Formats: sequence, C-alpha cells, structure tokens
Amino acid sequence: MTASWTPYRFLADRMLGRLARYLRLLGYDVSYPEPCEDAGLVAMAMSEGRVLLTRDLGFLERIGPARGNPKVVILRSSVVTEQVAQLASEGWLDRPGPPRCASCNRLLEDIDLLEARHLVPPYTFSVHTRFLYCHGCNRVYWEGSHLERFRRRLRLQQ
Ligand SMILES: [Zn+2]
Repeated sequence: MTASWTPYRFLADRMLGRLARYLRLLGYDVSYPEPCEDAGLVAMAMSEGRVLLTRDLGFLERIGPARGNPKVVILRSSVVTEQVAQLASEGWLDRPGPPRCASCNRLLEDIDLLEARHLVPPYTFSVHTRFLYCHGCNRVYWEGSHLERFRRRLRLQQ
C-alpha cells in the first residue's frame, strides 16, 4: 500500500439510496444529493472528485464524451448486494476507510460500553461488544446482523 492511496469516493444518484447506505457502512464516502439534472450531478462529482454511480443506461450517452467528465459506473443490477459485488469486482472497493453513518455519511466513532449501555436496547447491549456512534445524527451502530454477513460475503475487511 502506498502512502498516497485514498479510497474512491462516490456520488450515488437518486435510484441508489440503498447502495449509498451500504457503501457508507462499508467505509466509503458517498454523497447522495437531492434529485437534480445530469449536469448538476456531473458538476458535483467533478468538483468533489467522486465516481458517479447510476443505473441510468442513457446517462453516458446524454452527458457525451466531453473531456473532464467524472468517472461513471453504470450498475447493471437493481439488487443492492449485486451492485456492491459489481463495484468490488471492478476494483472500486479495494481499500475501505472506517465505517460511516448510513444516514448522513459522517465518520462513526467508537464509544465505550458504559456510554453504549444507555443508548441501545438491553438485549443488543448484551450480545455485542463494539458500538459506534454518529455525532451528526446521534445514531448508534453495532457490528453484527446484515453488515457482517455482507462483508464476509464480499470478503471486504477493514
Ligand atoms: Zn449520521
């Protein structure tokens, strides 16, 4: 790994809300803007250095081959696990960063068990040992459930 390597950052269009949430939890910086015109998406992706993700087959045709366009990935499946698998197989997901909030994209922070105890249901607290907190929207996350299975399946580890 070279010191200058940074993970790809993404911009998901309005058809890809679930994908945006999964990618954030997996450790990718994903923006998910309000609906807007192609040109708006392109401008945002360019100015923020993001790879544009879409299921819109006509997108590349419409924005044309102009120089300076952002990288665009057309996702073939409507199923979120297959979308992630496609991105992984094409080399977009090689080095995830730390997990981010599925809702607001902010980096999650570890909180200690004493704190977590007051924030999650007793059963959840009793069966997990690591809790993460979003200071943006005050959500608590824990390892387990679908996220872990998902990572294992894709062999994405951080
Ligand atoms: Zn959040």
